[in-house]
Amino acid sequence: MSQAVLERSTSPQVRLTKLFINNEWVDSAQGQTFETYNPATGEVIAEVAEGTAADVDRAVKAARAALEKGTYAKMDAADRGQLLFNLADLVLKNKAELAALESLNCGKTITDSLGDMQGVANSLRYYGGWADKVEGRTPPVRGSFLTYTLRQPVGVVGQIIPWNFPLAMLAWKLGPAIACGNTVVMKPAEQTPLTALRIAELAIEAGFPPGVLNVINGFGETAGNALCVHTDVDKIAFTGHVDTAKIIQKATADTLKRTSYELGGKSPNVVFADANIDEAVDGSFHAIYFHGGQCCTAGSRLFVEEKIKDEFVAKLAAKAKARRVGDPLDPNTQQGPQVSQEQLDKILGYVDLGRKQGAKLVVGGERVGGKGYFVEPTIFDGVRDDMAIAKDEIFGPVVSVLPFKSQDEVFERANRTNYGLAAAIWTKDIDKAHLYAKHVKAGTVWVNCYHVVDATTPFGGFKQSGHGRENGEAALELYTETKTVTVKLG
Ligand code: ADP
Repeated sequence: MSQAVLERSTSPQVRLTKLFINNEWVDSAQGQTFETYNPATGEVIAEVAEGTAADVDRAVKAARAALEKGTYAKMDAADRGQLLFNLADLVLKNKAELAALESLNCGKTITDSLGDMQGVANSLRYYGGWADKVEGRTPPVRGSFLTYTLRQPVGVVGQIIPWNFPLAMLAWKLGPAIACGNTVVMKPAEQTPLTALRIAELAIEAGFPPGVLNVINGFGETAGNALCVHTDVDKIAFTGHVDTAKIIQKATADTLKRTSYELGGKSPNVVFADANIDEAVDGSFHAIYFHGGQCCTAGSRLFVEEKIKDEFVAKLAAKAKARRVGDPLDPNTQQGPQVSQEQLDKILGYVDLGRKQGAKLVVGGERVGGKGYFVEPTIFDGVRDDMAIAKDEIFGPVVSVLPFKSQDEVFERANRTNYGLAAAIWTKDIDKAHLYAKHVKAGTVWVNCYHVVDATTPFGGFKQSGHGRENGEAALELYTETKTVTVKLG
């Protein structure tokens, strides 16, 4: 790290820093800005316009106008789909630039950012395809009536985005919203405000009429909250921390807005002795360390059958020691920095707590270098279910190894969490795999694989991991109201 990071990190140009309202770049109402950082160096890379309630109000008015009059309101569904196809093409055309900007601001490796951009395009295309296929029904009602249902947009949608997958999460929300004819006020995370602005610029090029997509950067407690309490916002779609979701649930109560939440997890990743051990080691490694553990589906509770546990942990530790942690813009890097000083401190705090509560630190546990927010891949062995590192979402490269003896025992322990986002199992026994898939309380279950997510498949949480499902046909439910029309015949 060092000089190479510094020189390269200033090179991608940050041109766009203003608010994006009604297809125009504007300063915030009171002219405030906030600093955004490069997590690889801790240095400021740009001053970004900071939106507050007055700006949110301007954006909501633009979104409402676009929804109710003008070209978008009258646009054929197929043409709305074309907007998403166009935007997907532009994302791929500008993939290298978008990925570099994402890595610069969020710290994810350039390899992962390039993967994300492909995912963004896939998602936008998938929902572009849905735009002219969102249909109502004709229920066979009693009596002499013709009844049909219409599926109409929910309206003006506030979308609140996290910092770990800034553009991927934007695409998961923007795609279905536009496919169903809604308009959007997007609030990116304050840690990663930059790439959403570039998407907004590409949206103009893709043909998005004014007001359809608006981007208001700013802080959660101000800009985010203003969206939640606004009387003319019909729905909030949120991805982020469970505690924030609880605040939003209360903030949206007075207006009874529709809400959908995609929250955190403490996902159980269960490895049986009959699994292909080397594949399970590689998969479990990816499960926790992908994007430095900053993944809501991270496989952070690693249950390993006792008779293979020592061999398994030794193999995992060897991989952890060999991991190349450093400059996210270097294609050889495997793990970049954590996103912020706050996250770095939180993760190191949990490492301390793990030690104090009696878990065995096998490898890692330290900050890497004195600049930027890098953390060593960390493994704790001998973790008990009641320890903080086994219960709380750490959102960093820290895995808790929990030994188990029997199938019944581990199936029961896997569900001992308030979360329910994802789960995985490694085994060659087909019965065990399907029993686990049926039993475990999680929105996504992986058998002999991990982090396989696709635009076509519903994604979301049981319990405190969320409400509703994004991706797949399921997301259309989040962005439509169903209207029943009954006509008397004869
Ligand atoms: P994290 O703790 O990982 O940063 P958050 O849940 O705080 O996750 O952030 C996710 C998104 O939620 C960000 O865009 C953030 O600005 C927004 N946010 C935070 N607090 C609020 C709030 N009170 N109301 C609305 N949005 C919020």
